[in-house]
Amino acid sequence: MKKPLTGAELNELIAGLNKLSRNLWWCWNQEAQDLFQELSPRAWQHLFHNAVAVLREVSEYELRIHLQEPGFADRVRAVLKEFEGYLADQNTWCHKYAAKLHKNPVAYFSAEFGFHESLPISAGGLGILAGDHMKSASDLGLGLVGIGLFYREGYFQQAIDSNNWQTEYYNPVDPKNVPMEPVFDADGERLVCHVEIGMNTVAFRVWRVNVGRVPVFLLDTNLPENEQLFRDLTMRVYGGDSTTRIMQEILLGIGGVRLLRALGHEPSTFHMNEGHAAFLTLELIREKMAAGQTFAEAQTLTKAECIFTTHTPVEAGHDRFSRDLMNYAFQRFTTVLPVPFPEIKALGRVHPENLAEPFCMTVLALKLSRSANAVSELHGQVSREMWQSLYPGKTVDQVPIGHITNGIHLLGWMKGSVRQFWRKKLNNGNGETKFFREKFGEDWFAAVNHADFWEKMTDPAFVADEELWALRYKLRRELIEFARRKLLQQSQRATQGDFIRFDHFLNPDALTIGFARRFATYKRAPLIFQQFDNIVKLVHDKQRPVQFVFAGKAHPRDDDGKRFIQQIIHLSKNSELAGNVVFLENYDIHVARQMVAGCDIWLNNPRRPLEASGTSGMKASCHGCMGMSILDGWWREGYDGKNGFGIGPDSHPADVAEQDRVDSANLYQVLTEQVVPLFYNRDVNGIPREWIKRMRHAMATLVPQFTTDRMVKEYTNKYYLKK
Ligand SMILES: *Cc1c(COP(=O)(O)O)cnc(C)c1O
Repeated sequence: MKKPLTGAELNELIAGLNKLSRNLWWCWNQEAQDLFQELSPRAWQHLFHNAVAVLREVSEYELRIHLQEPGFADRVRAVLKEFEGYLADQNTWCHKYAAKLHKNPVAYFSAEFGFHESLPISAGGLGILAGDHMKSASDLGLGLVGIGLFYREGYFQQAIDSNNWQTEYYNPVDPKNVPMEPVFDADGERLVCHVEIGMNTVAFRVWRVNVGRVPVFLLDTNLPENEQLFRDLTMRVYGGDSTTRIMQEILLGIGGVRLLRALGHEPSTFHMNEGHAAFLTLELIREKMAAGQTFAEAQTLTKAECIFTTHTPVEAGHDRFSRDLMNYAFQRFTTVLPVPFPEIKALGRVHPENLAEPFCMTVLALKLSRSANAVSELHGQVSREMWQSLYPGKTVDQVPIGHITNGIHLLGWMKGSVRQFWRKKLNNGNGETKFFREKFGEDWFAAVNHADFWEKMTDPAFVADEELWALRYKLRRELIEFARRKLLQQSQRATQGDFIRFDHFLNPDALTIGFARRFATYKRAPLIFQQFDNIVKLVHDKQRPVQFVFAGKAHPRDDDGKRFIQQIIHLSKNSELAGNVVFLENYDIHVARQMVAGCDIWLNNPRRPLEASGTSGMKASCHGCMGMSILDGWWREGYDGKNGFGIGPDSHPADVAEQDRVDSANLYQVLTEQVVPLFYNRDVNGIPREWIKRMRHAMATLVPQFTTDRMVKEYTNKYYLKK
């Protein structure tokens, strides 16, 4: 019999679990998630898989009793040991190659962060990328602090009304219920800083999100001493109008720098993730001038400290503010910045002498950064063309904008069952295990990001076709059951009959094609239905059926995007496609993970070259889901002709209508001539050998390449360490 735990031992484990719950490390550690899920399966499922919410649901008494179950306490101990070991590790990549950043860290500014579905402060890919950047920075032991905003109503939740029209509603986030904690000053009081916005001085408090080793600070103006207008400034992600927008950006940029100083950080580099944060340069200039530098010197020194990543070639994606709005928003700040304001405004114009040109955040960021980069090779080219006028005398090729292709945080995206699948392979006791032990020791983090791991894992001698195919079947069924549950919930008048009806939606044997992302019009969600009659035939082919799962949110003010949603939902309910095309509401990180894991094909058909990188397709590869995509963004670099499917050539027509026509024809051709035949080409045992061969090649070539592990290393070597 095992001795019961003492009160002191129980206290220690409970304190450990509380600390663990407030560190997002658990969202990329399966064993940790299992513990919280087990404590309250229902709270876990209904409160966005959130460790903090689970611990608030379970009384301390219940937790004590539960911990007396020896198996459970042992698992808690093992997870806490791994967690503490992770936090204390002095042997990371950055300890070796970038140790100086520990003293003078990188300050990473982003208007949105997508860490986890329980903290919905991201609108889409930009935020997800920022979240994944933080997670890999932590894994690599990088000296980095994140700066963002705490939006208490987050990004909107999507509901579809009876006209199939997207409506938006907001769930207030209770700070006590999410993985973050208040920040205090040296006296133990809530830290409060101030920033000049409009005619006012606005106070803000701060929340800290622990992302493994990396702290991310979220600014929050919801304080009683502020006027209501300013209390609501941080209410919603990209909420309100351009006045809200400019004020949020002043808070992020100028407030962010003030906060770093208050916390005693001396960053070596300020990384602006997109132009939203570019006002930070004005605060850096102000500081330097207050210390006696001239305006010219202060600009030079600021430029040496800043780097900038641009994320979109879409015109509307670059914030521009009118002269009046600038004058209004900076009334008070200009009283502390000893530079005539017209000179500041000129920093945001391509042609400084053109007073009619609006102030552009991207221009400010480009002018005041020591280096700038785009997020894929093609996007780099497009960005150099786009901003050439800012660099008179330089050819397009000489425009100083480089590129680092985006990635994903692999362990954060890998579905639990898939993580177990690969990890078991590592530990299955045959000769290969020794190979990994010697190479990576116990370090599953390092192994899973390494090309050797994926080369081995995709070797038929190591993992059989049958095993991979069984994994694909399991994942497809998990997605279909998830979709059926969700469709039932979505149905406004669900009856007994609906329950049965939805259980006939989607076919667990059919080739399943997924499309999920923001419904920005350039992503052309309904493109495939331009071939409507042909798609009907494909869907109803008895021998070789095809089906589609869609999800995505349109920006609240984007009626064209909402019409795309309406069109797809209409087809999914009222056409011959009903039951074989579904739309899942309220796309978020959780829905994304189900879809990239369960689909066989990840469809991507943006209007080239507007998809700067795209990341959702990268999340698919480690699950054996293959890309079928226009050669835009990352796919143009990732696709080698054999690791998925390419739509159309490495070029595009100049005329947009022509482009839509050609792309939809090419899409249909690839689907019917390559994808469907390969998927249904089965041997005597019913295994699609050629499909699986392609899947293996896709995993080996894409998974280790398109990670934020690779990406953050590149940022470090190319930009963070270089002056
Ligand atoms: C990955 C992801 C995105 C970005 O997808 P893209 O294909 O790059 O547009 C957007 N939203 C969510 C929730 C995601 O997980």
